[in-house]
Amino acid sequence: MSDQKMVKIMCPNLTCRKVLSIPDLARGKTVRCKSCGTNIRVPNDKPAPSPSNTDSPS
Ligand SMILES: [Zn+2]
Repeated sequence: MSDQKMVKIMCPNLTCRKVLSIPDLARGKTVRCKSCGTNIRVPNDKPAPSPSNTDSPS
């Protein structure tokens, strides 16, 4: 089975901010933004979603 996952990362270039879809295999590597040419380091871990288990004042 070739179930290739894709990871979406946002270009850190503030003037670009393009969301890039890169293969999961590229984790830990550096990819280049096709839009602005900025080298982007792909994090090994999943990007933290939204803070869920935080202290919620109630
Ligand atoms: Zn870019």
